[in-house]
Amino acid sequence: MKISPLVLTLAPLALLVTAGHAAVASATPPFYGEPPDATHPWSIHDRNRPQPKRVEPATVSTQDKPGRPPSDAIVLFDGTAAALARWEADTKEGPPQPTKWIVKDGALECVPKSGYIRTKEHFGDVQLHVEWAAPKQVQGESQGRGNSGIFLMGLVEVQVLDNYNNPTYADGFAGSYYGVNPPLANALHPPGEYQTIDIVFRRPIYRDGQVVDPGYVTVFCNGVLLQDQTPLEGPGGHLRRSKVGPMPEKGPLKLQDHGNPVRFRNIWVRPLPPRAAEGGTDGALSPEATLAKRRQIAAEIRADAATLKADPYQQMIRLAESLIYEKDAATERAVLPQFEAYAAGVKAMPKARLEQEKNQIVNMLRILRYMARHGMVPENYAPLGTLAAIEKAQDWMPKKK
Ligand code: MG
Repeated sequence: MKISPLVLTLAPLALLVTAGHAAVASATPPFYGEPPDATHPWSIHDRNRPQPKRVEPATVSTQDKPGRPPSDAIVLFDGTAAALARWEADTKEGPPQPTKWIVKDGALECVPKSGYIRTKEHFGDVQLHVEWAAPKQVQGESQGRGNSGIFLMGLVEVQVLDNYNNPTYADGFAGSYYGVNPPLANALHPPGEYQTIDIVFRRPIYRDGQVVDPGYVTVFCNGVLLQDQTPLEGPGGHLRRSKVGPMPEKGPLKLQDHGNPVRFRNIWVRPLPPRAAEGGTDGALSPEATLAKRRQIAAEIRADAATLKADPYQQMIRLAESLIYEKDAATERAVLPQFEAYAAGVKAMPKARLEQEKNQIVNMLRILRYMARHGMVPENYAPLGTLAAIEKAQDWMPKKK
């Protein structure tokens, strides 16, 4: 029997393993982890999955010096007077007004009775970093001491309050979801010192009047967890029980004037990607988004395979890889005869040549077994049987220890 030209142009195994996108060349071989499913467009350990984007990390603040925000953050206050341009007075109506809050010693300071302050830009789901300090001079008690507030989307208040040796009602404590849920701990520094607050906020998602995801607020204070993905129950409030319900897509970040000159510094946000319930991006996705993403990945792999004409073996494997993501009749019509030709070519090889090609043949067998295991070719697929018989005849099976 004539040996197929496909077999004669076999690429070295190293080339096969590093085939495909340069960015993931060293990640994993194809046909490795369990394949995609209805809500996961990528295989486990998938080499086609995009690498996480690089973010230069934040640096830690000290009491004397605020840290540096991460490189992709939107900086809302960096200690300069110029940063006030991002803020305005929280007026209910009329044209926008500049805030009367002041910038002093690198801090944004509440001027009592001047009113709330809000960002001009609106945000939805965010990671938010805020540092605040209550006045060093202790005045008042309970809710009257160092009170301010961080209002996500202008609605959900994460309480700012000097609770260092200052009891108050639990659901109004510093770090509470005000009026709804007390913090898990009191981890405050003494008044005058900065508290470092990190928040993850996810707004509620409703569809056709039904809640799809209630939304959550997670809060850390000075590295201590205060709110552990607490489900949203509407805007918090004074005296009144808040009601679960939809919220707008976005809103301004507001800081409260509660009559105390609380200071803020190093305020930044990172808008968050959509959740699975909204289509998602890189975790579990909705079934619709998963299907679309799997089609996209398959199309990208087929396009890449089209560039590999000079190496038919590599092209065959790359094309077959696209079938992991999308069952495509045209691709099957192109690939399956190549598998058959490959197996026939191997079957016709003299014994010495088989030993030379061992790595590639075993790799092909591994791929066919993966495809059979996951329903991409039948269990009794003929090329698989041919290669498995050769593996056995050559005594290539892994030895049991
Ligand atoms: Mg408050």
